[in-house]
Amino acid sequence: MVVKPAALMCGARRSCLILHLFPTARRIEVFNLVCLFCCSCLFANFFACTMNSVVSALTKRYGEQNDNYFSGSPLNRVSFLREDYAFLSSALRHPTTRFIVLQKFDPAVYPNSGDYYYLKYDDVKSAIGNPFEKSESEVIAEFDSSISAPPLIFLGIDESKADGVVHKQYTGHALFALDVTLPELDVLFKPAIQSIIDGIESGGGKFVTVRTAFILSYPDAAIYAQARSYLDWNVRNPFCAGCGSKTLSVNGGSKRVCPPTDRGVERGPCPSRGTITNISFPRTDPTIIVAVVNSKGDKLLLGRNKRFPVKFYSCLAGFCELGESVEEAVRREVWEESGVKLGRVVIHSTQPWPYPACLMIGAIAEALPDGEKIHLEHDPELGDAQWFPFSTVEQALNVAEKNSNTLDLTDNLVEGPIKVPPSKAIAHVLMRAVVVEKAHRI
Ligand SMILES: [Zn+2]
Repeated sequence: MVVKPAALMCGARRSCLILHLFPTARRIEVFNLVCLFCCSCLFANFFACTMNSVVSALTKRYGEQNDNYFSGSPLNRVSFLREDYAFLSSALRHPTTRFIVLQKFDPAVYPNSGDYYYLKYDDVKSAIGNPFEKSESEVIAEFDSSISAPPLIFLGIDESKADGVVHKQYTGHALFALDVTLPELDVLFKPAIQSIIDGIESGGGKFVTVRTAFILSYPDAAIYAQARSYLDWNVRNPFCAGCGSKTLSVNGGSKRVCPPTDRGVERGPCPSRGTITNISFPRTDPTIIVAVVNSKGDKLLLGRNKRFPVKFYSCLAGFCELGESVEEAVRREVWEESGVKLGRVVIHSTQPWPYPACLMIGAIAEALPDGEKIHLEHDPELGDAQWFPFSTVEQALNVAEKNSNTLDLTDNLVEGPIKVPPSKAIAHVLMRAVVVEKAHRI
């Protein structure tokens, strides 16, 4: 295996005399051993190399990290600043700040490029005002349940842009997500929101479904995953799980509180007040998805959901249950759906799946030699499950890669080769990791 020079180079080695004299990749490999004992950087290596060498050692041992679609956000969420409404207020109104807009959770984009159709504060001001003008405690004290403002989420700051909002040592372009789904809104806000929608559509923007058309870039998809999940959670939780009263979105859209008063009138007691509870914050649902290899190591177990087209196969998946490890969930789901019994399970990588708030935990597992018989009658969720030779799966992966931006679930042809998910789905990544030697992110 050829180790990439960048993975070997620590900060100290960048100042190494030998590497200054022979700075090419080939020579770094040649002088790798020499570098360990080179007088010019031995001292610096000792003190400065630790962190990078740890990363390098992990990469060498376990391979490169796989950042799946919907992960790898360029934003710093600065979650600890969400309660600071003075910061949120200045971030909201800063001229470099941008807003992504979602309608029924579909983002507004330029359909040809897939780039976001960003708005500025002046574009949305008439619809949202400044919800961070007062402190959070004042906003809670003035709660009026008869008003439902358009959901607004503070997503974070892009620190690669230096001319943005500045707060203490934090600076960058701030990004918010705004929901413009009209039927959900108060009449009060509808004209201004309609005007935003009209402006987007007349400007060439369009609201697109990301789930079956992966047209967003990897960084934009990660931002979308955060925006969609938080907006969805706010829309789904208008009432308190503790007492049934209406709740209020705070913390820049990442928390919902049950205020003690409504229009100045005291409400009844609620178990969510005065303590940190898991009903005030959004949850993530852990979900397993697994590529199962036979004990001989030449076939992959794939299943076809009854809702999928006839030739469409994928990895098996399911929710983790309470009091269950990821490995146990993998073994249980595979046995329940296919009858196959598993031995070793390893975690490969993960993928946020914002429909609405899942974390797909991608695993690779090996079937037990005497547990490979397929039986679909335990939990009749699958229409079919089969062991496919690696070569068959690889051919299907290569075809799917060419159509990597779409998930076509309408093609119901019964003849021809099998079809598998596109390369931006973690199922595809897991399959490729198994059937293609040294497969990394595509
Ligand atoms: Zn309550």
